[in-house]
Amino acid sequence: MAAETNTIKAMSDAGIRFLVSARVPGGGRDLNLSANEVELYLKDPNGTVAARFGASTNEYLEWVASDGDVQCAATTTSGHRCKNFISGGGQMEMDDWKKAHGGYCAVHGGEGAPHKK
Ligand SMILES: [Zn+2]
Repeated sequence: MAAETNTIKAMSDAGIRFLVSARVPGGGRDLNLSANEVELYLKDPNGTVAARFGASTNEYLEWVASDGDVQCAATTTSGHRCKNFISGGGQMEMDDWKKAHGGYCAVHGGEGAPHKK
C-alpha cells in the first residue's frame, strides 16, 4: 500500500483532503490527515490516529475497546478488581479518560473520582 510522497504532496497542494473515519468510543470520527500523516497512516493506522489524540497506540486501542469507560480502581473484599465503572464515566474524551484512571465507582467513594466536575 505504499504511496508516492510526491503524489500525496501534490494532491494535498491541489486542495484534496484526506479524510479517515477513526474509531472512537461510541462510533467513528472523521479526521483530516495532513500529507505527512497520510504516509504514516498507511504504515500504521492506529498509531497515527492515536498520536492525533495524544496517546500511545495501546492507550488508543484500550480507549476504544472500553468505550471510553474507566474501571473502578478499588479491590473488593474478595480480592478482585471492582468491575464497576467510575462515576460520571462513559464515552469520555481521551484526555478525560486518561485523567480518570485510578478513580473509583460510587460504591468505593466515587465522590473523589478525578472525573467529577
Ligand atoms: Zn468500585
